[in-house]
Amino acid sequence: MSLQDIKDRIAKAEKDAGRPAGSVTLIAVSKVQPNERVDAVLQEGHRSFGENKVQEAAGKWPEFRDRYEGIDLHLIGPLQTNKTRQAMGLFDSIHSVDRPKLAKAIARIAQEEGQCPELFIQVNTGEEEQKAGVMPSDADAFIADCLGMDLPVKGLMCIPPVDEDPALHFALLAKIAARNGLEGLSMGMSGDFERAIALGATHVRVGSAIFGERVYG
Ligand SMILES: *Cc1c(COP(=O)(O)O)cnc(C)c1O
Repeated sequence: MSLQDIKDRIAKAEKDAGRPAGSVTLIAVSKVQPNERVDAVLQEGHRSFGENKVQEAAGKWPEFRDRYEGIDLHLIGPLQTNKTRQAMGLFDSIHSVDRPKLAKAIARIAQEEGQCPELFIQVNTGEEEQKAGVMPSDADAFIADCLGMDLPVKGLMCIPPVDEDPALHFALLAKIAARNGLEGLSMGMSGDFERAIALGATHVRVGSAIFGERVYG
């Protein structure tokens, strides 16, 4: 696979779903990938990237930002409260807002800094113990709390359980977003982004299908 193949598949999925061309943002998930591979994708003109660790992103993206204009960086992994300020300085979007303490920290720092990344609230649609995200039954109240703090909540994010049909989780996420008046849906990865687009994804997070398998060293 290559960047262009994935873009073509996204365009086809948009069309098949009767959605406007360009309505889905492709986030190229560059975690763990060697810098040469990331550089190659930047050279092809792509600008939206996702990382799951603050520390790793801090080590590689300032330099890419010096070299390329218009980079749009998304935090897609869990955020520890003590790294909130650093994350807000590094990322244009945070997809893992999942608890009141974190939401409050973001609101306080946004006040101080006069700016805030675009936010997605992570929902643990599979109610998995080891997974981050607010439980589906708590989602409406948490969304209302975040909006009440004037946080710029763009939408919701989920990571379906590996052993279940992701479509059920995508549909649940879309339903929670719709009843709360949220437009953004961050869902779909290398193996299921077309199904996510069929169910309304606005942001797909695709790593290995673009960059190749991640090699953990
Ligand atoms: C790693 C990761 C992805 C990308 O996974 P692939 O299967 O490589 O496409 C997407 N979302 C999150 C939250 C991730 O951590």
